[in-house]
This record gives sequence, structure tokens and C-alpha cells, in this order.
Amino acid sequence: MYLIDSHCHLDRLDLTAYQGDLAGALDAAHDRGISHFLAVSVTLDDVAELKDLARQYTSVFASAGVHPLQDLPHEPTVDEIIKEAEDDLIVAVGETGLDYHYAPETHELQRERFRRHLIAAQAVEKPVIIHTREAKDDTLAILRKYGPDAKGVLHCFTEDLAMAREAIRMGYYVSISGIVTFRNADQVREVAKAIPLDSLLVETDAPYLAPVPHRGKKCEPHHVRDVAEFIADLRGISYDELAMQTTANFFRLFKGAAKTKQE
Ligand SMILES: [Zn+2]
Ligand SMILES: [Zn+2]
Repeated sequence: MYLIDSHCHLDRLDLTAYQGDLAGALDAAHDRGISHFLAVSVTLDDVAELKDLARQYTSVFASAGVHPLQDLPHEPTVDEIIKEAEDDLIVAVGETGLDYHYAPETHELQRERFRRHLIAAQAVEKPVIIHTREAKDDTLAILRKYGPDAKGVLHCFTEDLAMAREAIRMGYYVSISGIVTFRNADQVREVAKAIPLDSLLVETDAPYLAPVPHRGKKCEPHHVRDVAEFIADLRGISYDELAMQTTANFFRLFKGAAKTKQE
């Protein structure tokens, strides 16, 4: 049964263990049953490289967008986001969203950047990858007003169950990362256990957030297997069932991925 890492930063991995070769990290993941990877963009400058990876590896999909905390000399316009996102190799817009944990002076700019991504996503008819941290009310309010018809995913979810339920009611998916294995992450475990299986995705957010038992090491895409096994245990279902459902969810949401290549 195959599993997908629905959110990783393949252009930022520590590849020392693989002599600098990304193929080594992808093979290590394939060996653990990971079939596909969504390589997520942090700035529009990343997009060319991510598209190259998607061209080079049939297992890799790419997104285009700017992270809410990314410092930029020039704020991308809606048209500039569309220009990167409309390419057939791009299956989603993001990551975008709101992160209120840091830099209060950037919150208004973050909201404007988020709105521009949502408008661009609607224009290119692609789903959005949403980063939300300590910003649940504003994230939901902006999604209600500007959220694209193609919907999207709240990635690396750490907000509460009420927010997860509301987002799912609006048609969004919720993706759980290795944080679910952390000792102090009861709220994330509550969400991972309670949300409907057909709204769940799993991810690593590699190279960040290595799950138990790999904590303190650099996170790699193959760790999504540990995340999935942990959630299957939590929910009292088999790993195979969780893998099958989250893979089906992935291709239901990211229609461009289903279209281009499915093993
Ligand atoms: Zn993020
Ligand atoms: Zn990320």
C-alpha cells in the first residue's frame, strides 16, 4: 500500500547522507512505501527548480507560492503568482496563509499576500496549500471570502479541533505532520483522531519537524511513514487503510496530480 508525502521541501533537504543526491532520499522513501511527494514552494524563486524536479522524477509534484513569513524585496502581484501557478507542472498554489507566531508588524502584509494567493488560485483553478499558525479566526474569515472553488489543505495543522471541523465543513482537507508524535502535542493528536478519514492528509514538512523516533535529526520524506503509522495506531485502524485513504484523498484534492501521473 502506497503513501504520499503531501508536503515537503525537496529543494531544502540535507542530502549529506546521500552524497548530495536527491535520488537517494527519494529511493529511501520508495523503499518504505512512499510513492509520491508534493514539493512545496516557499518563494516564487523556488518554482523553476521545483518544476525541474517534477519533470525529472515521475514521483514528484510541485506547487508555486510564497510562505507568509518570507521576507521579500518585492511583493508578488496576483498576476505574478498566476504566471508561476498556471504551468501544467504546478498542481497547487502555496504555501500561503497566516503565521501570527512571529513578527506582528507583518500581519497586515501577510493577510494581503494570502488574499492574492487565493485570488490567483481561483484564476488558475487549483487548490491552495495553507499554512496557519495562531491565526485561526483570520484564516477562516479570509478563506470564507476568497477561498477558491478548488479548495485546498490546511497543512501541518496545529490549531484546535473546532477550526479543523469548520475548515472541513467548508470543503478543505487537514494535513498532519510529525508534530503529532511530539510529547506536548495533545491538541494535534485530538484532531488527527477525530476528523473524518476522508479529509485527512499526511506530510513531513521536511526538512523541518522530524517525528519521533527521529527527533533532533533532519527530517526526510521517508519519515511520513512514521507519521502515518502513528496516526493509524491512534485511530485504531490498519496502516494500509490509512495509506489507501490518504492517497485517495491526495488525488481527489490535487486533480492536476491525478491527471499527470499516477503509478
Ligand atoms: Zn508551513
Ligand atoms: Zn512547508
